Amino acid sequence: MTEIKKFILDNRLGKVFENKTFRDYTTIKVGGKIRLVYMPNTIDNFLRFYEHFRKYDYPLFIIGFGSNVLASDRDFPGVVVSFRDLDVLYFRIGGKVKAYPGCPVVRLAYDLAKGGYGGGEFLSGIPATVGGAVYMNAGANGSEIKDILIKARLLGNGGATVYETKDLDFSYRKSRLQAENLICLEADFVFEKEAEPGAALKRIAELKKTRRKTQPIEKLCAGCTFHNPPGMYAWQLIDRIGFRGYQINKAQVSNKHANFLINNGGATSADMIKLIELIKEKVKERFDIDLECEWVLVNF
Ligand SMILES: Cc1cc2nc3c(=O)[nH]c(=O)nc-3n(C[C@H](O)[C@H](O)[C@H](O)COP(=O)(O)OP(=O)(O)OC[C@H]3O[C@@H](n4cnc5c(N)ncnc54)[C@H](O)[C@@H]3O)c2cc1C
Repeated sequence: MTEIKKFILDNRLGKVFENKTFRDYTTIKVGGKIRLVYMPNTIDNFLRFYEHFRKYDYPLFIIGFGSNVLASDRDFPGVVVSFRDLDVLYFRIGGKVKAYPGCPVVRLAYDLAKGGYGGGEFLSGIPATVGGAVYMNAGANGSEIKDILIKARLLGNGGATVYETKDLDFSYRKSRLQAENLICLEADFVFEKEAEPGAALKRIAELKKTRRKTQPIEKLCAGCTFHNPPGMYAWQLIDRIGFRGYQINKAQVSNKHANFLINNGGATSADMIKLIELIKEKVKERFDIDLECEWVLVNF
């Protein structure tokens, strides 16, 4: 690992950090130590790092805002890459945007709305980077990232390739990136010119208000914990087994939204997993439904 760190620093490929933990890089703030965190300053430099890194046998994990990630309490023996320090977030010509993986989707939604372009309002309350949102096919209020994505440049074993949206197998919180372990390097979006100026900004303000009322966004959490089973809401099932507010040590089912599991301060990953497993067991027992965890579980 010392050699990898040296390679990054000698070639000025970005920043490196040791002694960080997943608590520093996730919104739920749990998880063990990370051997090395690398923050590339450009995509080209990341690609140079990647070519070098491939010669080793260490695990690699890409982190966005860590808003859908639960890492185990164990130490992570590899490199976590964060694109949040890239020199450029995005370029825009009218409603056409080329965005880089560390760009916050909230920023895109706001900037485009301010410029008179709509279609991205649903992104305004999702604490995601572009890379994480494409990987997860993030969505809200009846729209998903796939609806505004035109194409994406992705890195796989065969190198970097541009894929059109139709080739990315998007479905509810699923994508080809997950199935094939592809890394998002850039993404092109299209936003629509507004017929009524100011409408997108107004809609963003409304959505924000609703979110504040219905989701525990002020708490340490990682978004919805379970996928909604077809035609149902996971929060209703959790409510019906009487688990709203239920707590194991510092891991708790939110009182505000039963599909949000929160860290009440000092929860371990083991606490969160115990709560997840118990909910799954009770829901299975009562309704014969297998809840599927939406969170990305790392280093378990
Ligand atoms: C308060 C709150 C509200 C939320 N509301 C919503 C919502 O309304 N709708 C919704 O869909 N989600 C929601 N989420 C969940 C979360 O924001 C989304 O899943 C989001 O897409 C995760 O983005 P991220 O950048 O934080 O990715 P992370 O959580 O850091 O990572 C998620 C996955 O994406 C991968 N990834 C990240 N960047 C890249 C990249 N460049 N290339 C390849 N893979 C990458 C990671 O390796 C990981 O597997 C919410 C979360 C919170 C905390």
